[in-house]
Amino acid sequence: MTESPPRAWAEIDLSALQHNLQVAKDQSGQNVMAVIKGGAYGHGLKKVAQVLDRENLPFLGVANAGEARRLFEAGIKTRPYILGATLPAEREEIAARGWTPCLCSFEEMEHFNQLGKTTPTEAHLALDTGMGRGGFLPEQLGQALEKLTTSPGIKLTGVGSHLPVADEDSAFTRSQFELFDSLVESIPKPPGTFHIHLSNSAGLLGFQSRTTNLVRPGLLLYGISPMASYQERLQPVMTLKSRISVVNHLPQGHGVSYGRTILTRDTKTAILGLGYGDGYPRSLSGKGTQVLINGTLCPLLGRVTMDQIIVDVTDLPSCHPGDEAELFGPHLLVSDLATKAGTIPWEVLTQITPRVTRIYR
Ligand SMILES: *Cc1c(COP(=O)(O)O)cnc(C)c1O
Repeated sequence: MTESPPRAWAEIDLSALQHNLQVAKDQSGQNVMAVIKGGAYGHGLKKVAQVLDRENLPFLGVANAGEARRLFEAGIKTRPYILGATLPAEREEIAARGWTPCLCSFEEMEHFNQLGKTTPTEAHLALDTGMGRGGFLPEQLGQALEKLTTSPGIKLTGVGSHLPVADEDSAFTRSQFELFDSLVESIPKPPGTFHIHLSNSAGLLGFQSRTTNLVRPGLLLYGISPMASYQERLQPVMTLKSRISVVNHLPQGHGVSYGRTILTRDTKTAILGLGYGDGYPRSLSGKGTQVLINGTLCPLLGRVTMDQIIVDVTDLPSCHPGDEAELFGPHLLVSDLATKAGTIPWEVLTQITPRVTRIYR
């Protein structure tokens, strides 16, 4: 007996990940903190971390202590960096394991100072230059630096900030770069390596800083550009696939799927074995969504159901049960699909569910 293959799977092209990392390095001319939060944007935290662990990066960016612990348990040597404020209950583990937090408040500073009494905790300072999601405001910087001088339990190894509109508002983002650069220039740099970072994917593609030496791309590493203009330089890492289970002939006037979308012609349909239970957004229903089968784009028919979708293959010369379909990937960009679904590629990628087998190439 052989084990049945999955109905829906995601092919993860690890050489594309390496290509995109090189684009991030070439474009920025800076060191890279690879952002792998959210299970490496749905690509699989452990496998992606294992590939990136060979790249000699200073940090892997994760969301919380749980993701950092998964890296530790997988034997990953690259240091986890916790993006964003830490919970009080996470800090003992963060300090003990030598993961790098970014200090977002005086409360965090005090706590990490306590926890670092025997071995100082290496930490970065988070500045809020416009994101409003934690970090010291420009007018608090002086006080924060002051506090650090009397915090022997903390070793400051960097400073960072975050961009809320790098792909939407270049005037604001330029002013943010200017503000960040001037703040950083006012900070006395401790001896040794000092990491200065501001850019996400959109920031590193579109803007230049006088002071930074590190960038924090996420989406770009997975081969999707936040701005269409840079897409051709990148290689999408994930291809979401499924297979035809059955081909049917339905007459004009027959209904399709929940809600009964009525067929306007005699239609050859193919059923694919994936749905919103796999993370294929239900909001793609009725939006002119297409899937690729045997080299031909075929329209989605009716509503996306939990485990199956129905596509119109009337104009496809040949298709059979077992044939593969691409839902998104190199030929159908997940960013275009996300727009149709009324969301963003970050959300579509991170919502591909565990039922979808990740296959690494
Ligand atoms: C998620 C995140 C990033 C990566 O953003 P992308 O737009 O995916 O490149 C960078 N920095 C911080 C603080 C983040 O939270």
